[in-house]
Amino acid sequence: MNHECIKCEQKTSQEKKGMLTYPQPQVGNVTVYNVTYEKCSNCGKIFFPMETFIALCHERQKILDSWIISQPMNQFLSSRETAIILNVTPQFLSKNKKIKQGLIFQAKKGKSTYYLKKSVEQYKKTGDGRFDLPKEELLLLQQEEKEEQKTKHGLDIVLD
Ligand SMILES: [Zn+2]
Repeated sequence: MNHECIKCEQKTSQEKKGMLTYPQPQVGNVTVYNVTYEKCSNCGKIFFPMETFIALCHERQKILDSWIISQPMNQFLSSRETAIILNVTPQFLSKNKKIKQGLIFQAKKGKSTYYLKKSVEQYKKTGDGRFDLPKEELLLLQQEEKEEQKTKHGLDIVLD
């Protein structure tokens, strides 16, 4: 059944179920499988319910995390070093909700959290330590993630 598109207001928005590739902040295109969304055949506008949004966020986080942990250890700062640079307490770093949620790129090793140097420096300057990941490295991660998802969901559902 067609619905009215929220963008062009034509009755050309169609519900679909399957694979969806959609750009996400910092990591570029993310692909999720077996999700519900609507696509307008007139203007191309895609929109989706909360579950699909969550699935996309989850995949974005996975790609981001695998990029962060692939960085060499000397590119990270301990929470003590990070706190000194930012002139805050280590408690501030571990308690601040937005930082915990990734405003500064971070990785856990054992019980300790390490912060990516470049991200800490950017956070100090702008209040936001997130940046777009390098394109070539991303392509590889996206490819790996896609293969993993394909294996998980079976090749046959990769239809639009
Ligand atoms: Zn439309």
